Amino acid sequence: MTETIPLFAEYPVLEAHIPYRSLAKLPTPVERLARLEDELDLRELYVKRDDQSGLEYGGNKVRKLEFLLAEAKTRGCKSVLTFGAAGSNHALATAVYAKQIGLRCVSLLAPQKNARYVGLNLKRAYVAGSEMHAVPAREVSQFKTVRHWANELLAEGCRPMIIPMGGSSALGCLGFVNAAFELREQVRKDELPEPDLLYVALGTMGTAVGLALGLAAAGLKTRVVAVRVVADFIASERLCERLIMRATSLLNRHGVSISASQSARDLLEIRHDFFGGNYAVYTPEGMEAVTLLRSTQSIGLEGTYTGKAMAALLDDARRGKLSNKVVLFWNTYSSVPPAKQLMDIDYHDLPEAFHRYFNRPVQELDR
Ligand SMILES: *Cc1c(COP(=O)(O)O)cnc(C)c1O
Repeated sequence: MTETIPLFAEYPVLEAHIPYRSLAKLPTPVERLARLEDELDLRELYVKRDDQSGLEYGGNKVRKLEFLLAEAKTRGCKSVLTFGAAGSNHALATAVYAKQIGLRCVSLLAPQKNARYVGLNLKRAYVAGSEMHAVPAREVSQFKTVRHWANELLAEGCRPMIIPMGGSSALGCLGFVNAAFELREQVRKDELPEPDLLYVALGTMGTAVGLALGLAAAGLKTRVVAVRVVADFIASERLCERLIMRATSLLNRHGVSISASQSARDLLEIRHDFFGGNYAVYTPEGMEAVTLLRSTQSIGLEGTYTGKAMAALLDDARRGKLSNKVVLFWNTYSSVPPAKQLMDIDYHDLPEAFHRYFNRPVQELDR
């Protein structure tokens, strides 16, 4: 028997009702970033290494999948159907862990700005046996499209569970409610002081929302600075609020009478000024952040999510807003290197619509 997870330890009533499957390597380490701290003249700066959350593939999506894929299994589904941009880390994580537990994985992928990780992720998902279909951006999560592919799978006797973009359903958020209780344990063990501020990238919102809800429920005063890296029709104050309500009512339905919604809203601040206007288009500030973290701390960020989130932290630090604060950066980007066999994959084996991510130029940071 494995030890129970922090969420179930806090709310034992959940264990009988909410399926859970251990996929991640938890707890992820917390480390102090001493050199960057010096350079920025900060009091204390830490990183939460969710980049190391998995053996085969890490990053923030693994925590959500522990709940989502467990639910798929419990419902008797034989496959999962999910969506994202071509280079989606979520689609890749889903492919890797679906395979690990014996579920077929189909993903519908929309076009995006090219970057080196896009081709890499496509190849990794292909190796994991994911069936990838290129879909126009406006169709990717449309009801009609989803129904079409769900029906195909049903007709093949392979009932799918539909996982929303980024895994950010109320259920997926529980992965980060759990992560907040995990962080509280690390604070109690003196691995770090209770942070004043936690910086994290804001995409489909499940990560930041789950953390804010979990921190509020855990009685921590840590504020979540969620740096938006997607269009505002995907992530906004209003949409965060809605997801907070949904995750709260999921917990309420299963016998946990938390009323942390209001405090979660108060703990969550969205930053809109580091997006740069386009998903996956690197900004100068984002690229500077990636370069700085690589040179000072040997930490590998990327330009779509974590670089932009770190850029917000650096900017706040340089403006003196963080001088007396304990700051935690949540590293959501997998640092697990691809298997060697990836070198042997010829991109021509992938559907033709994806070839352009291999034979066209990537962005400056990647060259
Ligand atoms: C998906 C993703 C995020 C954003 O998480 P959400 O829960 O979608 O807001 C942040 N960083 C990386 C590297 C991601 O892949």
